[in-house]
Amino acid sequence: MSTTPADDLARTAELMEAAGGYAVQLLEGMSERPAARAPVRPEPRPLPLAGAGTSAAMAEFAARWEPGFAASAGPRYLGFVTGGSTPASVVGDWLTGVLDQNPTSGLDSTAPDLERETVAWLRELFGLPAGQQGAFVSGATMSNATGLAIGREWLGEQRGVSVADDGVAALGPVRVLSGSAHSSIGKALSLLGLGRSALRKVDVLPGREAVDVSRLAEALAELDGAPAIVVANAGTVNTGDFDDLAAIAALRERFPFWLHVDAAFGAFAALSPGHAHLVAALGAADSICADLHKWLNVPYDSAVQFTHRRDLQTRVFQNHAAYLGPLGEEPDPVHLTPENSRRLRALAAWFTLAAYGREGHAEIVRRDLALAARLGGRIAAMPGYRLLAPVRLNVVCFTLSGDPGGVDQVARAITESGEAFLTTTVYDGVPALRAAFSSWRTTEADVDRVAAVLEKVHRGSA
Ligand SMILES: *Cc1c(COP(=O)(O)O)cnc(C)c1O
Repeated sequence: MSTTPADDLARTAELMEAAGGYAVQLLEGMSERPAARAPVRPEPRPLPLAGAGTSAAMAEFAARWEPGFAASAGPRYLGFVTGGSTPASVVGDWLTGVLDQNPTSGLDSTAPDLERETVAWLRELFGLPAGQQGAFVSGATMSNATGLAIGREWLGEQRGVSVADDGVAALGPVRVLSGSAHSSIGKALSLLGLGRSALRKVDVLPGREAVDVSRLAEALAELDGAPAIVVANAGTVNTGDFDDLAAIAALRERFPFWLHVDAAFGAFAALSPGHAHLVAALGAADSICADLHKWLNVPYDSAVQFTHRRDLQTRVFQNHAAYLGPLGEEPDPVHLTPENSRRLRALAAWFTLAAYGREGHAEIVRRDLALAARLGGRIAAMPGYRLLAPVRLNVVCFTLSGDPGGVDQVARAITESGEAFLTTTVYDGVPALRAAFSSWRTTEADVDRVAAVLEKVHRGSA
């Protein structure tokens, strides 16, 4: 006999208690769980004909799958730019599934209003002006794509065509300028029909990832008055560098362009008194990307997208249907982003902001900044390694003082140790390692453990 959802419903309390107990065990073990695993795929299993119920599914998951899962929510997972999940955000995420709202429209629920409140809180957190209106999306890639789609519509407005109605062919060739654009910008341009080759790399300042604003001005001047898109970068993934946002924004007095700022994790610099100046001009952007599953420490997936041109946004994303009603003054989320139906992604963010407030989240950011500086200091003094850039924000970018080609082997050895997880990159032509700090869990003791494993791995390979 197969177990049915109704059978499980009769034991809801027991099942939820068991799931809660299992989750507590995982959360309490997170700091000692190996940071990453060399993936070993379990033997495949065919689709069960008869269901065994939730208890059996949980037991199977715990035996077959969970041991291979990384401690990406743990304190020494420093690969990519990876946040953990605060306790409040995990609770919010659970309740998201429990209540299973579809915040597409406000016809049936206040869920879209909770989303609006959360967006307003985030706007305040980042110090953005009220004119910047936001929407939830799945990640910075989607936020960049949404911002660039609005920018594409603006280009149409400048040229007297509607891309939303007539398609991207009506627009003609488009130039997108950026110093150190994230890979997701190319993906967005491909998706939007502008094409990856629309992106023109502008020179960066010597020894930096920040764009050389005078070279950007030259590139804009070459366009001879043709409207363009500029992607400014606030927090680059290799070295946490920032474009001069105020200087770039000021160029709009001389040249017509849409200013999109990718501030996926850099937006959180607003929470550190020593770094807030780097994003003081963020609000001057036409569209802004900020990730939440990184430095806000909410579970995947979550990001926010801001723009002050909601009229263009709804032109691109409106989803006309008789049953959804008119756009109105406050358009429902369905009219703002690529998605229609989706989860109430805002709830986890709402929970963590309600639980810890601005000060709690500022403390996480300030601590991570101090920890990155601490690791940078340790590496600078460590035989066998050298820093490739000063630690400007939360990313430490370094390489081997001997043959930098050995970084892959070092990264592998670190992963195998279970102590930490770092990812590799190539910075200014040099193979490198990156350690990015964005978890609420990381402490000084964790940095010391990371430093110890780096020393050990280097001795082992020397
Ligand atoms: C992480 C990141 C992205 C892409 O974000 P996803 O959340 O993976 O979609 C884009 N830009 C920057 C600067 C990032 O750090």
